[in-house]
Amino acid sequence: MHKTQQEKDVGVYVHVPFCVRICPYCDFAVEAAPELLRDPAAEVFRDREDRTVSALIAELEARRTAFAGRRLSTLYFGGGTPGLLRAESLARIREAVWSAFPPLADAQSPSAPPVEVTLEVNPSTLERDRLKAFAEQAGVNRLSVGVQSFDDSVLKALGRAHGVDEIHRTLQAARSAGFDNLSLDLMFAVLHQTPSMLEADLEAVLAFQPEHVSTYELVHEPGTPFGRAAQSGQLETFDEDGAADMLLRIESVLGEAGYERYELTNFARPGRASRHNQRYWARAPVLAIGPGAHSTDPVAPGRPFGARIGNERSWSVWLERIETGQPLAPGSEEILEAGQALSEAFFLGLRTRAGVSAAGIQTEFGASPRSFYPETVERLMGAGLIVESPAGDLALTSRGRLLADEVAAAFVSPDAIAR
Ligand code: SF4
Repeated sequence: MHKTQQEKDVGVYVHVPFCVRICPYCDFAVEAAPELLRDPAAEVFRDREDRTVSALIAELEARRTAFAGRRLSTLYFGGGTPGLLRAESLARIREAVWSAFPPLADAQSPSAPPVEVTLEVNPSTLERDRLKAFAEQAGVNRLSVGVQSFDDSVLKALGRAHGVDEIHRTLQAARSAGFDNLSLDLMFAVLHQTPSMLEADLEAVLAFQPEHVSTYELVHEPGTPFGRAAQSGQLETFDEDGAADMLLRIESVLGEAGYERYELTNFARPGRASRHNQRYWARAPVLAIGPGAHSTDPVAPGRPFGARIGNERSWSVWLERIETGQPLAPGSEEILEAGQALSEAFFLGLRTRAGVSAAGIQTEFGASPRSFYPETVERLMGAGLIVESPAGDLALTSRGRLLADEVAAAFVSPDAIAR
């Protein structure tokens, strides 16, 4: 995504914090809604749902001025499990987003792509029954399904609320409901997972022919039940080399099947990369609403490199603040400085297959990528970890992708900043 496009468009992320149960490895901002397991129409949840939707819309109204004049490119319902909201609730949010930011494609720009509207769903009867309504009422045109594994023993060990049967039923229902842009989440380096279990997972993924696959290495985040168990020695951490081998195997199998590894952990068929997620790697403006959501605010007076705003994580504190009309107080606010923005541009750009764009760096920072880190670039190229295109773009080699964190760390402090 080029800077000129960033100047005029916006992506909106909506964080819906509810899950029917909390997975023991999860460190997102989430709230348990177990009542939905017993009774999908639970009135007590309906109250929480309606209040949350109203608060999300109120937050959108309060925050939209920082993104004024932009046109909508992507809308992403994430969480949590946003598929636990009724289609009419998602439609209410969608309408508010549309009226805040008119879509990029209109009569004047008919060639612009329609807004990409992604919804994360988990395999469950409740969500499955709503798929058609999500498309018809809320305009969802891309589904991201939290599959994680096609092995019941892995799903159980992960504390997931679904089994393999549920996955098959949900994926089939998604196709029957007309979704032609389907992404599957797949975890690897998970607990007792063996290479042959990974092969079986990949085979099952390919059997469904999704348009997109996002992979996640299981990390024992501090503060989660898994993190605590790992710290006290009750849970083994997956062998680092074994995890790297698994990712290589994923790349090879998916690559042979026509999926491009367009970002370190994301794979897509041609033209099916996630437009919303690409905004993060391009540092393009994203207005994020809901507890724990993180926005990328655009350049503004006093903010020549934009800002990162992190919302309050607690749903109840976030809700009360909005319902009682208190001014929005971000959980965190970071106004970016030139050096920080440049490091970020390298760190995020290197995650992508396209790499760090020379034209983008020139436009934003006034010089070529190499000129900010001449010695580092020389050293990493000599070590076969990055390559430079004739235009001056810098990208990881396949060896560099194995050592992506180390390579990114080399670009932390630029030697000089042009402005
Ligand atoms: S379903 Fe996802 S968001 Fe919800 S608790 Fe599990 S990992 Fe966290």
